Amino acid sequence: MNTTLRYLLAVFGVVITVHYVLSFTHTDYRRATSLNSLTSHFKGVTPADITPIPDRYYPPFSNESLTVDHRANATFVILARNSDIDGTVRSIREIEDRFNRRFRYPYVFLNEESFSDDFKKRVSVLSAAKMEFGTIPRDHWYQPSSIDEKKADAGRNRMVEQGIIYGGSLSYRNMCRFNSGFFFRHPLMEKYRWYWRIEPDVHFHCDIRFDPFAYMEENNKVYAFTIAMYEFEKTIPSLWSHVKDFIKLHPEYLAKDNAMRFLSDTGGDTYNLCHFWSNFEIADMSFWRGEAYTKFFEYLDDKGGFYYERWGDAPVHSIAAALFAPASQIQFFDQIGYEHNPYTHCPRNEDTWKEEKCTCDPKRNFDYDGYSCMSKWDQV
Ligand code: GDP
Ligand code: MN
Repeated sequence: MNTTLRYLLAVFGVVITVHYVLSFTHTDYRRATSLNSLTSHFKGVTPADITPIPDRYYPPFSNESLTVDHRANATFVILARNSDIDGTVRSIREIEDRFNRRFRYPYVFLNEESFSDDFKKRVSVLSAAKMEFGTIPRDHWYQPSSIDEKKADAGRNRMVEQGIIYGGSLSYRNMCRFNSGFFFRHPLMEKYRWYWRIEPDVHFHCDIRFDPFAYMEENNKVYAFTIAMYEFEKTIPSLWSHVKDFIKLHPEYLAKDNAMRFLSDTGGDTYNLCHFWSNFEIADMSFWRGEAYTKFFEYLDDKGGFYYERWGDAPVHSIAAALFAPASQIQFFDQIGYEHNPYTHCPRNEDTWKEEKCTCDPKRNFDYDGYSCMSKWDQV
C-alpha cells in the first residue's frame, strides 16, 4: 500500500471513530446527523433510539384472521373529502379492530375530487383488505342543469333564515342526492352486491364477531339499521306528497306487509318523519338498483327537492325500504354498538354488551330517547 492511500485510510478511520463516539455520547448530534432524520416525518425518534422487542414476545395469533368460507360479495363504502382524513382513519381503525381484521372485507372510498396521496397512504396502513379510491362522475354529484338555480338559491336562503342545519349548503345537497341515487352506480361499486356505509368519526362500540352480510344474505334481508329517529320537517316539506303521488302512479311497487306503520300513523296519509339514520347502513344494492327504487329516485329527482328543499338520503332510503320491501326484510341490529355524534345505539341485550366487550354506556342508549323512532319500529 502506498503512503497516500495509508494516510487517507487513517483520516477516514479517525472521522468515523469521532462520529461514533459523538453519536453515543451526544444524542442531539446523533439526531442531527442520522440519515433517517433528514428524510423522515417521524421527527425526534431514530431507529437507533428504539430498543427492539425480541421476537419471542410476539406469540403467533394464528386465529386472528379466521378463514371465513361464506364471505358475501360485499364492501365498505366511505364517502369523504381529503380533509376528512383524521376522522376516516379513526373510523377504519375501530371497524378493523372490532370486525374486519377477522373478515377482511374490501373498502371503496369515494370523493368528488381525487383523493390525495396522503389520504391514500394513511388509510392504507390500517387494513390488510383491498382498498380502492374512486372519483365521482360529475353528473352524479353536481346540481343538474334542469334545476332552476334562482329557485334553489331562494330555497337555501329561506332555510338559512329558519336556522336549519346545512340549510345554506350546496355541497351537502350534492352529497344527499349522491347517497340517495348514485353511490351504488359508481364503477367501483358495481361489482358488489352488499355494502356497509361508514362515515368519518363514527364509533363501533362492541366486537362484531358475526358476519352481518352473510346473515342478511342467508335470511333474505335487504336493509339494516341501528338507529331510527325523526327528520326535521322543514328539510322535506313536500317529500311525502310526492311519495303519495308516486304510489298512486305505481301501486305495483308497494310490498305486501310493508312497514308503512313505521312511516305513518295515519295509514299513509301523513308522514310521521321516522327514518333509519343512514350514516350507518348495511344493505343490498340490488334493491337500490332494482326497478322500484330506480323509478322512485328518478321521480323524486325530477321534482328537484334535493335542491329546492334539502331532502336527505336517510328519509329517501328509509321510505323506499319501508314501502317497497316487506317489513320482515328490514333488519335492526341490536348487536352492533354504534355512535355517530350525538347519538349512540348500545346493545339492549346485556349478554351481548358483556360478551362483545362494549365500550358504550347502556344507560345512554338512544333507543329509549324520546327523539328515537325505535318504539314505532317495535310496533311494526
Ligand atoms: P351529517 O352526518 O349529516 O352531519 O353529514 P356529514 O358532514 O357527516 O356528511 C355525510 C358524509 O358525506 C360523510 O361521510 C362526509 O365525509 C361526506 N361528505 C359530506 N360532504 C361532502 C363533500 O362535499 N364531499 C365529499 N367527498 N364528501 C362529503
Ligand atoms: Mn356524519
